[in-house]
Amino acid sequence: MCETNPLIVCDGLVKIYKTKDIEVMALQGLDLTVNKGEMLSVIGKSGSGKSTLMNIIGGLETPSAGRITVDGMSLAEMSEREMVAYRKRTIGFVWQKSSRNLFPYLTSIENIEASMNFSGMKTAEKKARAAELLELVGMTHKKDSYPRQMSGGEQQRVSIAVALANDPVILLADEPTGAVDTKTSAKILALFRKLNKELGLTIIIVTHDMKLASSMDRVLMISDGKISTEKIVREEFKDDLHNIEHEETRTHDEFSVLDKAHRVQLSEEMLAAAGIDSNKVRVSVEDGKVVIRSE
Ligand code: ADP
Ligand code: MG
Repeated sequence: MCETNPLIVCDGLVKIYKTKDIEVMALQGLDLTVNKGEMLSVIGKSGSGKSTLMNIIGGLETPSAGRITVDGMSLAEMSEREMVAYRKRTIGFVWQKSSRNLFPYLTSIENIEASMNFSGMKTAEKKARAAELLELVGMTHKKDSYPRQMSGGEQQRVSIAVALANDPVILLADEPTGAVDTKTSAKILALFRKLNKELGLTIIIVTHDMKLASSMDRVLMISDGKISTEKIVREEFKDDLHNIEHEETRTHDEFSVLDKAHRVQLSEEMLAAAGIDSNKVRVSVEDGKVVIRSE
């Protein structure tokens, strides 16, 4: 993997939400590097911090501690104006609910044009560009349809065109296929792949769908506000993942992630398999291997 071109660098991200009586630590020192042109998926249980991470990368939330830089710029050091421009121009967002992506009272083409408010383009230019984007997502035939006149999958395609309206560098999609069937989900994934290949867009997709997640080169698993494991595609499957039908094929190698303090998370399954049921374990190095055992 190319480590030389980092676009997004998250360093020890912490996010604490304060509600009336409790504090929730949604991110607990998360480290992540995403290279330019990568397409990766983020998985994890509900409440593990996936959306919080996306919102921080998208500039919609600020971390309580830690640092995030995008293209070498620290988000914390940006002025209000730079931040607005960052959200509009650098980032494209696709949400699970089309109602959050599309205005119900605008047609497909109007929705895209309405998002080009930062472009300084003339009306005619906007129209032409919006038509181009609809073509790119295969929705030209619904250019004059309102969201309610389209299926969930069609609405998501238009939503993706809207997210691309200002020619972003990074496309963030938070469970974009959460509300559509498997077949539609596969089509949307193919569209993301095309955008990644043809436009060189950096794409991060949060998903519950393991099949969808595993069709990407890199799969990050978040547990309790940190990246716990990372699956990386094996060399021989690199450009071929979307053609793999067999779910039992081992297409990825799975790694546990060591944090900066060299801590590693063990899953419930690992603990059960090793018969570890106490919070104290013995750790030793034997024959060049780190061994963790209960006794
Ligand atoms: P995920 O997307 O993985 O389901 P989230 O990032 O939405 O998880 O949430 C992580 C944790 O932070 C959860 O415990 C959630 O309840 C909490 N949380 C998220 N947003 C807020 C908020 N605006 N106010 C208070 N707590 C929040
Ligand atoms: Mg979420």
